[in-house]
Amino acid sequence: MQIRFPVEITIEEYIEQKAWEQVDLKQCPFHPEGGCGLARHGTYPRKFPDYCLVARWYCPCQRVTISLLPDFFASRLPGTLDEVEQVVNIAVSSSSREEAAEILRPDISLPGGLRWLRRRIKYVREALTILTGLLANECTPDLQSFREKYNTNSVLIKMRDIAAEHLLSLPQIVGFGSRSDGRYCHFTVSNN
Ligand SMILES: [Zn+2]
Repeated sequence: MQIRFPVEITIEEYIEQKAWEQVDLKQCPFHPEGGCGLARHGTYPRKFPDYCLVARWYCPCQRVTISLLPDFFASRLPGTLDEVEQVVNIAVSSSSREEAAEILRPDISLPGGLRWLRRRIKYVREALTILTGLLANECTPDLQSFREKYNTNSVLIKMRDIAAEHLLSLPQIVGFGSRSDGRYCHFTVSNN
């Protein structure tokens, strides 16, 4: 499973500092009382936009690995949340999806580019729709509305923080919710 590594640093700083080596998971999300044998379990690589590592732990009682995903990364999608947000911004400001796909993915065919684009638009719309309901924030489920409400150009990263306690019930790419079994548990993890 993935949980939040709340950072304010950029991906460049994350790489420079090797922040995955310094982060510590103080308590197991399943066993905050301790005693489960939670142990460091190496790292796994993220390859886009730059190669870096994500720290991982293992809970032998639950038999599950727990990785600490820094806030700038999208969950279950290559790349960063800011990159996805920019993609959707370009789609919104383009005259058509086709035009946006050609601007964003000139390296692949138009149908492939459209699929790539649609997927990102869908992830963002789903997240914002759920967040609008969860937060009762009077926003409409679009980036512009959230940008104005929260005064940021990095809406998706901001949502990791604002909706921190809901991340396990939010779908990719902001949340860490399970795709398959629909069962969610609720807890928060501190970064202290
Ligand atoms: Zn545990």
